[in-house]
Amino acid sequence: MSFELGDKILERLRERFSPSSEEFIALWAREGGDPFRVLVAIIISQNTNEKNSFEAFRRLGSTVGLTPEAILKGGVGAVREAIKPAGLQDSKSAAIVEVARVTLEKYGGDLRRLLDLGEEAVRRELTAVKGIGYKTVDVLLASFGYPVLPVDTHVKRVSRRLGLSGSSSYMGVRRDLERIFRPEVRFEAHLLLIKLGREVCKAREPRCRECPLNNICTYYTARA
Ligand code: SF4
Repeated sequence: MSFELGDKILERLRERFSPSSEEFIALWAREGGDPFRVLVAIIISQNTNEKNSFEAFRRLGSTVGLTPEAILKGGVGAVREAIKPAGLQDSKSAAIVEVARVTLEKYGGDLRRLLDLGEEAVRRELTAVKGIGYKTVDVLLASFGYPVLPVDTHVKRVSRRLGLSGSSSYMGVRRDLERIFRPEVRFEAHLLLIKLGREVCKAREPRCRECPLNNICTYYTARA
């Protein structure tokens, strides 16, 4: 596997897809440049679709607010009620309130100060919060320019079908993909592979005939 393969994959995916902030909550939340908002959006989006995530995020913004101060003032009950459309509101609201507390108490209310400390510091601090795992931290890091490739359910399925990774673990797939995609394009690769998974390489019935990657896909060529 090589960066040349990653370049080829991205070239074809770019011709077909243009990820927009209307379809990725992390991109949308990032527009103000505040990593705290992005982290809240990513927590809300765990295990649900983008439509529900957007609704929950907007409700949280209009009823409670999207700053650490507003969230701590509103409390876990108000956050839980606001984010109900996204599901798992008990665990997600607890994580959001805890992140608000950490941001306010340790970083003066500005999560950029944590991001400025580097990847390892971000991982150490945020994975200590119950309800925040590798993927959530990776999406945050990637959204702010760190060269990591977050792996969601679409990215994992597509990567395994394409033959880019044979691993079943989060870390294994991420490691394999980071060997294929150059550091500066990893977040873009993440978004484009999700688009491919949502629209073409669907879980139940992949539309291989219309896939821009079918002639380099292990799954397809084994069945052709
Ligand atoms: S060719 Fe089929 S299995 Fe392979 S990536 Fe495309 S849609 Fe998925």
